[in-house]
Amino acid sequence: MKTLVFVAALAGLTSHSAPAVAQSKPPLRTDQVRVVYLQPKEARHEAIHSALQERRIFEILRSLLRPFRLPRQLTLEVKSCDGQVDAYYANDTVTLCYEYIELIEQHAPRVGTPAGLARADATVGAIIDTLLHEVGHAIFDMLEIPVLGREEDAADLFSAYILLQFAPDDARRLIQGVGFMMASEAKAALEEPPGLKIFSNEHGLPAQRYYNLLCMAYGSNPKIFGNMVLRGRLPKERADGCAGEYAMLRRAFSKLILPYVDEAMQRDALTQVRFNWGPLVPPTDGLDAPPLAK
Ligand SMILES: [Zn+2]
Repeated sequence: MKTLVFVAALAGLTSHSAPAVAQSKPPLRTDQVRVVYLQPKEARHEAIHSALQERRIFEILRSLLRPFRLPRQLTLEVKSCDGQVDAYYANDTVTLCYEYIELIEQHAPRVGTPAGLARADATVGAIIDTLLHEVGHAIFDMLEIPVLGREEDAADLFSAYILLQFAPDDARRLIQGVGFMMASEAKAALEEPPGLKIFSNEHGLPAQRYYNLLCMAYGSNPKIFGNMVLRGRLPKERADGCAGEYAMLRRAFSKLILPYVDEAMQRDALTQVRFNWGPLVPPTDGLDAPPLAK
């Protein structure tokens, strides 16, 4: 995840010592994304492997990322990481470990969310969000996109922006699912004994990442996501500025990233995406309370 700076520094060193040869950059082109499912090493991960293929999550992402004009091939892979709970980008490859998907499953609602989202649907949202965050790192690296502020925040916002481009019903389900997971993670973090060290992390605190997601969703469309404010999940003081925050994100995306996207191809991809959602969970099933409910 954080090898980028190191690799860039090495590249800089090499260019100083090598003879000055003009290097032409490779041409940018679409259709640069490939998907690799590696067989899990652990028998308990077989079910995750099958579910991923059945839900076609990686294929959905590939169709969304095909319109990006990239200088090199980008690989999206899922693999066993020998017990390491991780998701990362390195060497033109986004890797999601089966172990990380297990962690996602631990934070998933036992039955579903109060909005009717089933447990399996919430995990779909979280897996897509995790992959898109890492794809954000990949895009910044491959296209040399400048980032002001923390790269981790920018990767979160890259993912949120893409999630919000889906058809409204899909976007709502995805945001609800990801929001539940983030709130669950935030709740677990808040139960840990407080310590100064957590503030030094390169990522925002889980609760901050949760509120950032809600703010972008509400800012993008108060009609669709206004219930988050009504239900008290996004405090009014933050909600009031979210349209402006989202406008800033949209401007950054338009100026920095859209020039590298075949927009007609992207529109087609977005209209053709089909999520294999489970049926809505009826409210009688004993739903999980929102993790950060007061
Ligand atoms: Zn990251």
